[in-house]
Amino acid sequence: MLTAETGGICIPWAEDQSQVLEKLHAVKETGLTSPEAARRLEIAGPNSIESIKRRGLLRILLNQFVSPFVLLLAIAAGLSFFFEEWLDGIAIVAVILINAVIGFFMEFQAERSMETLKKLTMVPVRALRDNRLTAIPSEQVVPGDIIFVEAGDMIAADARLFQAAQLQTDESALTGESLPVGKTTVALPRDIPLAERSNMLYKGTFVSKGNGYAVVVCTGMKTELGAIARLVQQAGQVATPLEKKLQVFSRKLIWVTVALAVSIFIAGLVNGQKLVEMLETSIALVVAAVPEGLPIVATLALAFGMLRMARHNIIVKKLSSVETLGGTNVICTDKTGTLTQNKITASFIQIGNSSSAIDLDPGSSSVRWLGDSSIADTPACRHIYRIAALCNTASYQHDSVPEKESGDPLEVGLLKLVYCAGITQETYNTQFPKVDEIPFSSDTKVMATLHRNGQEFYIAAKGAVEALLFRCTTVLEADTIIPLTEERKKQWLMSAEKQAQSGLRVLAFAFRVSKEKETDFLHRLTLAGLIGFIDPPRPEVPAAIEECKSAGIKVVMITGDHPATARNIAMQLGLANESDAVIHGSAMKPFDQLTNEDKELWLHAPVFARVSPEHKLNLVKLFQERKMIVGMTGDGVNDAPALKKADIGIAMGQRGTQVAQDVADMVLKDDAFSSIVVAIKQGRVIFDNIRKFVIFLLSCNLSELLLIAAASILNLHFRLFPLQILFINLVTDVLPALALGLTEAAPHIMQRRPYSSGTPVIDRKRWSAIFTYSVVIAGSSIGAVFVSHVLLHNQEKFNFELCNNILFYTLILSQILHVFNMSFERGLPFYRTAVFRNKYVWYAVGSCILITTLSYWVVPMRKVLQVSIYSWEDWSVVVFFPILSLVIIQVLKKIRWVI
Ligand code: ATP
Repeated sequence: MLTAETGGICIPWAEDQSQVLEKLHAVKETGLTSPEAARRLEIAGPNSIESIKRRGLLRILLNQFVSPFVLLLAIAAGLSFFFEEWLDGIAIVAVILINAVIGFFMEFQAERSMETLKKLTMVPVRALRDNRLTAIPSEQVVPGDIIFVEAGDMIAADARLFQAAQLQTDESALTGESLPVGKTTVALPRDIPLAERSNMLYKGTFVSKGNGYAVVVCTGMKTELGAIARLVQQAGQVATPLEKKLQVFSRKLIWVTVALAVSIFIAGLVNGQKLVEMLETSIALVVAAVPEGLPIVATLALAFGMLRMARHNIIVKKLSSVETLGGTNVICTDKTGTLTQNKITASFIQIGNSSSAIDLDPGSSSVRWLGDSSIADTPACRHIYRIAALCNTASYQHDSVPEKESGDPLEVGLLKLVYCAGITQETYNTQFPKVDEIPFSSDTKVMATLHRNGQEFYIAAKGAVEALLFRCTTVLEADTIIPLTEERKKQWLMSAEKQAQSGLRVLAFAFRVSKEKETDFLHRLTLAGLIGFIDPPRPEVPAAIEECKSAGIKVVMITGDHPATARNIAMQLGLANESDAVIHGSAMKPFDQLTNEDKELWLHAPVFARVSPEHKLNLVKLFQERKMIVGMTGDGVNDAPALKKADIGIAMGQRGTQVAQDVADMVLKDDAFSSIVVAIKQGRVIFDNIRKFVIFLLSCNLSELLLIAAASILNLHFRLFPLQILFINLVTDVLPALALGLTEAAPHIMQRRPYSSGTPVIDRKRWSAIFTYSVVIAGSSIGAVFVSHVLLHNQEKFNFELCNNILFYTLILSQILHVFNMSFERGLPFYRTAVFRNKYVWYAVGSCILITTLSYWVVPMRKVLQVSIYSWEDWSVVVFFPILSLVIIQVLKKIRWVI
């Protein structure tokens, strides 16, 4: 049954549209009132598919305890309790809890960042509310809402159509059928299968062509998509390639460490150490040496990166895209709106043999003719104005403050021209009511509408010059319609080309009067004239293109516009020069027919013009064939395949259709090219930061491992206690690693080449650096013990406790200071690097030093860590050696021994 409040189990396809509207208490002309919509929302609930996979807080918390590390620690705690080492046992339990809380906090943060981003990507729905077509969040759609959909829109709820113009939808998400489904408004048999219900729109599918109005019958989980939601739900958040790499890496490390721990355990026993002590040392060693927090710190760094980008109007939808961005080496960008301002203004008109530049002044609502002003009074010009107003789906409200405009900026530009010419769109619409429409598509590059004009019909058409000319047979010159001979066509094409060369985007306008209502009306047209539009380049783009060049990123313009316009704009932006080839879409062969020469030509051309969406796809294929990482922009429905295929599909937030935004990996809220460059830069920063903390964690852990191994194997008389190892691990691992993850861009980050796709996080060069760092840290810690023991105290009797304490504090401080070694910017002293200037690093260092100091002054902590009070000379040693280790590593970096 269909109910006004909740929708419910519906059979609206079998009923007449008026019956459906009546049952839902919906009025198709005015829509619902806001209070009524609010009431229905209260009853039906939000229009969303409940996510089964969303993890609760408890799940995240419990997750912290399911790991081999916790198990190892638990065994250690159990053993301590068994041997009545109460303090140790309690301390290990405390460590487990502290680790869990930190892990919980980090995972929770990462999840929250994802949620915030999801909200940012929600798509609006155009619904008729209070007699006005307004954009509302898709969650607020209720049964009975009248919605308007057009090509590129995602359908937000199940709805029954009552008006459709050439409407086709892609229902593959629901039915698996990839061919577009034509839509009608007539009632259908009751038992017709879902795939054939051509008068229905279904949530989750999208409009591939045309437009239409429909009344919402079901929302949220009551929709067809909701019913199969459990099947189509994606299996949770998949780990990104980088996270996977780190997971595999950590797992390998566990085994290496376990093997080492076992050797150390055996060596200790052989050297006569106590069994329990050695057991605890080995377990603590495993826990200390393995960077268990690595994958989650990486996730957090990626998630924070996403949030940081969101602040720059860049919505990155998948964590994995953040890493891919860092390696992007080709950006294929469209022109209109991304490289240009998308403020499209008519600046030139040509009819018959006359033409003139024009200047619009919406303030005084006038057109200033800078050339032949007599054009204004010609029949051809009047036709152009009429076509501009009628063959138009945009809206422009000049009388509201501020002015309101919506729809395609080119069409808004036309409405402004019409307004300045002193006629309103409403006047035309009343005089010539629209009967049918062939919507604009970037494949055909034309648009046409059919209007009633008394007993006759008026066909208004506009489009790319060569595409429309080929549908014209006559031309209106002076007061007469004359045949459009091949010769004349050539002349028109040449004048269009001339305008395009000066950077104008040129559109042709044509019409026809017909005695009867035709279904296929785009032919035998009469050409009225041309309009040239200016769309100035965005001022910030040349600098962004320069930045790409120095960063080794190739920028390619792919546009539907005329080659001459494209070249002119590309030259203004520094993207191409006079000698560069502009490849025309018509010269682009299918992918499998490309010769090697064609491929080389494509690979080196900076501009592709008059391209269709299929060409875009082929270009992506070619770049990927050459192992390049491709970022591709797109806005239309047909761009979806290319956006999907590209490594980074980039959709435009303002101009892009919902489908493009849905399939893209990244959405630019401000449509600006420079945002892509910002995103790539952020991607590089994040990858660098992940590398930094991986190197930091590994070198710290390896230094502990070396110390303990040396103590056991060489049977030194001093060594670290298990609890001390755990303490060092807790203090030095988490905060500095997190802080490193938030480091800003290094100054030269956009002056080096992109990473190749297979770049490992830790390559051979970095492994050798990790090893060197850890040797220096371990060496300076042993050096401190030596100096204190031999030079300061000069004792015959070995003071085990003092040696242990000096080792413990020197190691902690060395590791804390080691964070400043984590800048890899060549030629900069370390105090001028991004790490040194990262305030979070300072907070982390400050907090770590504070916690370390507390361990000395707070008596219970001191007891647990077995620390005693000692003299300022000893303290000087403890401070001197970490600084020495920092200096040694800096010198090694300076002489390029390590990175
Ligand atoms: P880009 O791909 O850089 O965004 P574009 O906007 O020119 O460039 P399309 O939108 O595919 O690409 O347009 C291709 C051509 O179709 C335009 O150059 C223009 O001649 C014509 N055109 C664009 N918009 C319309 C429209 N609304 N109605 C009729 N013709 C149009």
